[in-house]
Amino acid sequence: CLWWWWASLADAEYMTYKDPNQMAAVRVKDLLSRMSLEEKIGQMVQIDRTVANAEVMKSYFIGSVLSGGGSVPLPKASAEDWINMINEYQKGSLSTRLGIPMIYGIDAVHGHNNVYNATIFPHNIGLGAARDPDLVRRIGAATAAEVRATGIPYVFAPCIAVCRDPRWGRCYESYSEDPKIVQEMTEIIPGLQGDIPANSRKGVPYVGGKNKVAACAKHFVGDGGTTKGVNEKNTVIDWHGLLSIHMPGYSDSVVKGVSTVMVSYSSWNGVKMHANHELVTGFLKDTLKFKGFVISDWEGIDRITTPPHSNYSYSVEAAIQAGIDMVMIPFKYAEFIDELTQLVKNNIIPMDRIDDAVARILLVKFSMGLFENPLADFSLVNELGSQPHRDLAREAVRKSLVLLKNGENRTNGLLPLSKKAPKILVAGSHADNLGYQCGGWTINWQGFSGNNYTRGTTILGAITSTVDPSTDIVYRENPDADFVKSNSFEYAIVVVGERPYAESLGDSMTLTMVDPGPNIIKNVCEAVKCVVVIISGRPIVIEPYLSSINALVAAWLPGTEGQGVTDVLFGDYGFSGKLPRTWFRTADQLPMNVGDSHYDPLFPLGFGVMTESVKDLVNRSTSAGVGEKSYILTIMVSVIISLYFSASSGWLQKK
Ligand code: BGC
Repeated sequence: CLWWWWASLADAEYMTYKDPNQMAAVRVKDLLSRMSLEEKIGQMVQIDRTVANAEVMKSYFIGSVLSGGGSVPLPKASAEDWINMINEYQKGSLSTRLGIPMIYGIDAVHGHNNVYNATIFPHNIGLGAARDPDLVRRIGAATAAEVRATGIPYVFAPCIAVCRDPRWGRCYESYSEDPKIVQEMTEIIPGLQGDIPANSRKGVPYVGGKNKVAACAKHFVGDGGTTKGVNEKNTVIDWHGLLSIHMPGYSDSVVKGVSTVMVSYSSWNGVKMHANHELVTGFLKDTLKFKGFVISDWEGIDRITTPPHSNYSYSVEAAIQAGIDMVMIPFKYAEFIDELTQLVKNNIIPMDRIDDAVARILLVKFSMGLFENPLADFSLVNELGSQPHRDLAREAVRKSLVLLKNGENRTNGLLPLSKKAPKILVAGSHADNLGYQCGGWTINWQGFSGNNYTRGTTILGAITSTVDPSTDIVYRENPDADFVKSNSFEYAIVVVGERPYAESLGDSMTLTMVDPGPNIIKNVCEAVKCVVVIISGRPIVIEPYLSSINALVAAWLPGTEGQGVTDVLFGDYGFSGKLPRTWFRTADQLPMNVGDSHYDPLFPLGFGVMTESVKDLVNRSTSAGVGEKSYILTIMVSVIISLYFSASSGWLQKK
């Protein structure tokens, strides 16, 4: 009897899954064997933070909570506010019978973009222009540190879409139209998660440390290939095209140990990706050997049948059977839980499938140390918006800028601009608007307008701190022609482009510059030498205005660090960015990607005028000067010598 008492006490004290010295796979197996169906299904559910609280977490065994694009933003919440909120939910999860921690996820797609005072990096299109894998890796690490600073261990990034048509409202979330460039940019994954250990098995998720986060490659697969770029619609492409254009980024992400993959709203040849067993299970899990978990998109399963909920039971069955492991509900969790429970109890969805889904979720949670450190502390709060991160973002901005034109040839270019001009004009609403500069997915899902939502430096602010204090900077949002003519400006900086948008609201069939952009270019550039800086998430129609523009720069959506723009405009650094996608002439040429037979771009993929910094230029011309002098001297000496020999050989006398 005593032995029994002792044995049961020992048993209660030791649980394999709680032992950090056990292998993650062993812990998963042990925990899974202890879980009820209710507890398992709860793990598969991700709910929106606005419906989460400790009680809901506890009573439904919820596995995950998110702040998504559709979530209500938390304006000006501090890192501490975020941590306190998330820890509250976590305490609910930890108070359950098995104490399984939940995982909180957020869209940190260009820095920790939902959070006040975070460093906002250029959107992916700009990073595709910089085309510097080491840079994106460092950005991944900085983003991870800022996200962890707010107590969050999971990001829905990177978006590795290969945008084949800029009419798509998410084109700026894509690094490039070229799958090779997208592959190179998956280097952000080891930045976010840490480097996988050398002996790691292929496809096993890995998150290495307290300042790293689980990443999510999205949206699997073909999201950037829909017809006419219409968001969430159908990608018509054969198997070879899918594999060679849209899939390489996923193969690379899996090799780099990406923890999760998000499924695309779009369809492939008419089949919704959320119901596509062949690709989600057959290809991603079986062929690529991805061992992390697959997550649905926001209300993704509701969109399997139209109209939503017309046959909810079928949608749940199709999604789970396709291989989705965690479902971003985000609100109607009770309904989903009921439905899935019935499907399992009626043997329509086998228990094996549920076990596979839960095992994958638990594997991620174990391998990132969530069981050991489920509650966040305040030790990383200073990472948020730190100076080193802002410096990194500034570096990213200057490397992402693409110089499309500088005069008619390299000798009569307006750039680099003089810092000592007596009087200059800055024009266009995008010059002094942090919201426009950051684009969509910043503080709000659709971005914002103005300078009051977060911290950063506008381009106008950056110009002010760059030029000589004696320079008179005149800023006009929309100057008329007479005003420009009646002033003696040495040059003008015009900043125009697109206004923020996200997802379907950004789909555009015309891709024109927003008004009054074209008018500002006309009023200013016809009167004074001008550089036009385009703030946009993609190439836009520019050819009609090109002849009046002296210098043209694509700045994409640079984020909070406007000084990166002035770093290159004023020549402290050279331009090094190259177009990550084709710049079309007119929207009716689209789709048009490099390699197409009708390829007739205004600027081709990879185009970008390279320049040197003023300092390098000066150094080179000084040393070139020395070189030239010695060259001339050498020529003179050899002419004299040959004249001497010619004379002595009698050749001259004969003449
Ligand atoms: C987007 C995803 C995003 C999710 C959560 C969806 O609408 O397609 O990219 O991660 O919302 O915000």
